This record gives sequence, C-alpha cells and structure tokens, in this order.
Amino acid sequence: MSFLETDRDLSRQSYYVATAPRTQSFPALEETIDADVAVVGGGLAGMCAALELAERGLSVVLLEAQQVGWGASGRNGGQAIAGLACDQSVIEDQLGLDDARKVWDMSLEAVNLLRERSERHGFDCEWRQGFLGVSTNARKGKDLHEWAERIQRVYNYPLQVVDHADVRQWIDSPRYHNAYYDAGSGHLHPLKYSLGIASAAAKAGVRIYEHSAVNKVVPGQPARVETARGAVKARQVLLAGNVYLQGVASKLESRIMPVGTYIICTKPLSQAQADSLIPTRSAVCDNNFVLDYFRTTNDNRMLYGGRVSYSTVTPMNLAETMRRTMLKTFPQLSQAEVEFAWGGFVDITINRAPDFGRIGPNMYYLQGFSGHGLALTGLAGRVVAEAIAGDAGRFDVFARLKHHAFPGGQMLRTPALVLGTAWYRMRDLLF
Ligand SMILES: Cc1cc2nc3c(=O)[nH]c(=O)nc-3n(C[C@H](O)[C@H](O)[C@H](O)COP(=O)(O)OP(=O)(O)OC[C@H]3O[C@@H](n4cnc5c(N)ncnc54)[C@H](O)[C@@H]3O)c2cc1C
Repeated sequence: MSFLETDRDLSRQSYYVATAPRTQSFPALEETIDADVAVVGGGLAGMCAALELAERGLSVVLLEAQQVGWGASGRNGGQAIAGLACDQSVIEDQLGLDDARKVWDMSLEAVNLLRERSERHGFDCEWRQGFLGVSTNARKGKDLHEWAERIQRVYNYPLQVVDHADVRQWIDSPRYHNAYYDAGSGHLHPLKYSLGIASAAAKAGVRIYEHSAVNKVVPGQPARVETARGAVKARQVLLAGNVYLQGVASKLESRIMPVGTYIICTKPLSQAQADSLIPTRSAVCDNNFVLDYFRTTNDNRMLYGGRVSYSTVTPMNLAETMRRTMLKTFPQLSQAEVEFAWGGFVDITINRAPDFGRIGPNMYYLQGFSGHGLALTGLAGRVVAEAIAGDAGRFDVFARLKHHAFPGGQMLRTPALVLGTAWYRMRDLLF
C-alpha cells in the first residue's frame, strides 16, 4: 500500500470528521480560466494565503486534490503553540538574533491570527487558551526549564515555570517531572477552523475547486497550472501541497519527508473527570524527541496523540497501542473507551525549520512545517500574500533559511531516517 492509500484510510476515522459536518462543497475544475494567483493545496497554508490575497483585491483560484481541510490541517492535534518545530537556536544560528526575534514574534502573531480570523469571519472553532509543556524525567526537566528561562529572557515572552513539587496541581499524572505554562498558546478544533477559513475565502471571492489534483505546472508568464480536465493561467503560483504534491515540484519535495503521526480520542468523560486531568484544560506536550501531545475536547473527551511512523506504515493495532500510552500518562482512564483513531502525515525538514521560498520569478512555495503548522500556516499565508502583493520583507526572513535535500533520495531517505530516529527514541527511553 502506498503512503497515499494508507493516508486516505487514516483520514476517514477522525473525531473531527464526526463532529464537523461539511455543509459546503466546491466543484471540480473543468475548463481553462485566468487568475492573478493560482494556489495549489486547500490546507490552511493554501487557504489562508488565498484569503489574504483576495482581501488585497487579487483574483485567486485554489485547487484542492481532495476536499478543503482534508490533509493535516483538518486532522491535527489542535495545538496552537508559540514558536516553531525547531528550537530558536536553529534560527539564531542561521539568521542572527535580530531576525530570530522577528521569527519568534511572527509565531506569536500566528497564534493570535487563529482567534482573530475566527472572530472576524464569525465561526466557532472551540478555541481554548493555555498550553502546558511537560518533561518526563529530571534531565529533560532541566532542559525544559532552561529553555523556558531563555525564552523569557531573550524573547521577552512570559512563561510560568512549574516545579516538580507542584506539577501534579497542573496535570494529574504520575509521569511528569516538571512543566511550564504558556497562557498565550492554546488549542482548537482544526477541521471546524479549516472549514471556517474555506468559507471565508469563498466569501472573499476565492474560486475554490475540489477534486482537482494539479498534475503539472508549466512555468512562464502566465504560468499554466494543469489538472486532468482543466487549467489555470496565472500570473503567480503558490504551491502549498504539504507531502502530497506527488511530483509537481520534485526538487522541493526532496527537502521534506512524510512522517506519520497518530491520535486517539475517547468517548466523553464526565465534566469532573476531564477537569481533574488537566485543571486548566490546556493543551499538553512533552519535550521528548518523539513526543506525546494531548488535550481534552470541548465535549470532555481525551484526545491523545503520540505514535509516529517514519516508515509511513501505520502501526499495528493503532488504537490499542496508543491507548496503552495514554494509560501510562493517565492510569485513571482505564475504563475510558477509545472511540476514534486516525492519523496523517507531517512534512518534516532536516532541521525542522519551515521551508518557504520561490522556485522561479512567479512561483512561491510554503512547506516544511514539521508538525508545528496549525498556527504557522496562517502566518505563512499572510506573509506570502504580502510578498505576492509586492512587499516581500517578512517572507524573505523565512526564505533566507537554508534547507537541504534528505540524503538517499526518495528510496533511501526513509530507512536512513528510521535508523536516525531509533537512536533518539532509545535516548528518550533510557535517559
Ligand atoms: C496527526 C497530526 C497531528 C498534528 N498535530 C499538530 C498540532 O497539534 N499542532 C500543530 O501546530 N501542528 C500539528 N500538525 C501539523 C499541522 O497539521 C500541519 O503543519 C499543517 O496543517 C500543514 O498545513 P498545509 O496546508 O501545509 O498542509 P495540508 O493541510 O496537508 O494541506 C495540503 C493540501 O494540499 C493538497 N494537495 C497536495 N498536492 C496537490 C496537488 N497536486 N493538487 C491539488 N491539491 C494538492 C492536499 O490534498 C492537501 O489537502 C499535525 C499534523 C498531523 C498529521
């Protein structure tokens, strides 16, 4: 089974699909049309860019191979956290402290944008404030607190440090050594949010086409973006296809690797039990290399993410193995029934920094969110729209980050990554 077939299967079973019915659908492209900008990909990166471009008065066509929000954007853990997937030191090393500060501030703007957009466009996405970063042992606890102290000092961002003695007041689990609390980050229902953005984009004039996979982009002025039964002639093109581009821009695709990540969701718990597990009802994530991320939902379920697959093969007995991990964190959930299990693929880069840039004078791309894109995709959409509209200042801060292709090409990059990751996983378990 190819990773795309596995993925299609994993997308069907989510709690989000069960709780956010699609009330709007969009036609397939069956003619040749003109646009100022053609956007490839109806995830949050593509849709937020399309929305921002239309709000600036440009004519925009968005082409989505499946349905809007079908990919990672509609299936993720819902955690909207300040910062990037990589540590700020990666950005500082490449861009210097001044630009690293700009990147950090843009990551905060990204989180705020989630709330602003849902309020401005009048849809509910179940936003809840609060994020708890936790560590699973003393060594990682030291790293966690050193990181939190530096972020406060260097980036002037307030975080509340939680010592070992107090950690059980913040999370009722025997597993955690210490924590920090971030009141600025939070969590939401990502499919409700994605469908809300699609609707806002359509209202702003974006012509959205679903079931319209782009199979070829012919550079030129205008560029020609082709699907099986139609084409868009566009002055500018934005590629925002995550791991699904499938050969449309192979040079780009070699710089990201699809990594599977999985989530389970229980049946509703009692309100009292949900409140007791994480009294602030924050999103929670540990600082292991292969991390666990979880939160309670508005309807009091435990939504628990964790397992990863670097080989793209879905782990055996997904729901049961993930339930066992959840019980290590919350043994008191032994009677809770798991109702949903699903997963998806994230686009990791070698250094886990996002990869935005151009592959021609009128062709832009956004990729490499590395599992930390729920908020950042929205900011990426804004800065690429600024660039396309003539002000590339903020986009170019990101575009200056250097990225390399994964060694080994399409065939060997996965085994190489599996070996590399096994080492880090062992470190998580042993130290
Ligand atoms: C299980 C899971 C949990 C996650 N948890 C979190 C989390 O808690 N917090 C966080 O910040 N991030 C999380 N992420 C990552 C986050 O969801 C992604 O970084 C983000 O959604 C990426 O958005 P995107 O628009 O780039 O990609 P996607 O949402 O995947 O959208 C890309 C779209 O492009 C379309 N497409 C691709 N190629 C073509 C083509 N040729 N023609 C037409 N359409 C095409 C695809 O069909 C797809 O719909 C998680 C991801 C997963 C999978």
